Amino acid sequence: MSKTVKQYIGIDLGGTNIKFGVVNTTGEIVQKLVLPSNTENGPDAVIDQIKIGVAQLIALSSNPKGLGIGAPGVVNAKKRTVSYPPNFPNWENVNLGKILEKKFVLPVYIENDANAAAVGEMMFGAGRGQRSFIMITLGTGVGGGIILKRKLYRGESGAAGEIGHVSIDFNGPQCNCGSRGCIESYVGNKYLVERVSAELGKHPSSKIIELIDYDLSKLTPKIICEAAQKDDDYAKCVIADTGAKIGYALASVCNLLDITTIIIGGGVAGFGLPLFAAIETAVKERVITSLSEKIKVLAAQLENEAGIIGASALVAYHRSK
Ligand SMILES: [Zn+2]
Repeated sequence: MSKTVKQYIGIDLGGTNIKFGVVNTTGEIVQKLVLPSNTENGPDAVIDQIKIGVAQLIALSSNPKGLGIGAPGVVNAKKRTVSYPPNFPNWENVNLGKILEKKFVLPVYIENDANAAAVGEMMFGAGRGQRSFIMITLGTGVGGGIILKRKLYRGESGAAGEIGHVSIDFNGPQCNCGSRGCIESYVGNKYLVERVSAELGKHPSSKIIELIDYDLSKLTPKIICEAAQKDDDYAKCVIADTGAKIGYALASVCNLLDITTIIIGGGVAGFGLPLFAAIETAVKERVITSLSEKIKVLAAQLENEAGIIGASALVAYHRSK
């Protein structure tokens, strides 16, 4: 490959696996590698795995311009430290940026995974033509990233974009963060499954029951979606309600920031069009009138590879500034 072709290396640091990719300037993965994270052996073991993966990908790449890392936990993008990532035993505060830059003599950029996903959509996905947007990632938790005028907005301490902890009811269910009524406590995967498990008895004819073969342990958001696609009234109701809750929270965020584009990614987004429609309706209903007509809800485009592409996009983003 010609030396003039630029490439980026993206690293998606997860609790089970570390995914590595060589990504070209249009956001396409040209080489990919997955290694176990080895978190149980402490941070040094994880760092060794990262070094092994990066060394292999550098050998397979042409003219890499830098390493981008999307990491869980608290990330200080300036100091390039990763602190207390959940499910990484004994990992306190590690200056991953310094360690990898010293080893590979390439610039290293780190963001938390939600921010990396937002930058990924801005550079290579649904956010390419958008000046400002909110990215919301639905899954076990509800993450968010804010892009303002083509710049990632991190806030004063790097914690901006915690859309999952926007409360829609001050008396609502207790959230992991200590507050009440956060949207994460309504629409996180675990909550949804718990809620539907508890309510199914009242909906004995719901197609969900057949789909899980009378075994509640088989219940997932994907199954709820499948039932809705089979025109199951109860499942459709759950999706409409989930969308409304997300939409009410997003309306407040849109009002606050004067942003009208929302990009949705993550597992629960597998609910697809009915969820998107419910979110859009709720946002339009609750934002101030001057914003209402401009609201658009877009599907994230990097879904399956969002981790690697988002991480590599950090390099593209910083080099474009
Ligand atoms: Zn919360």
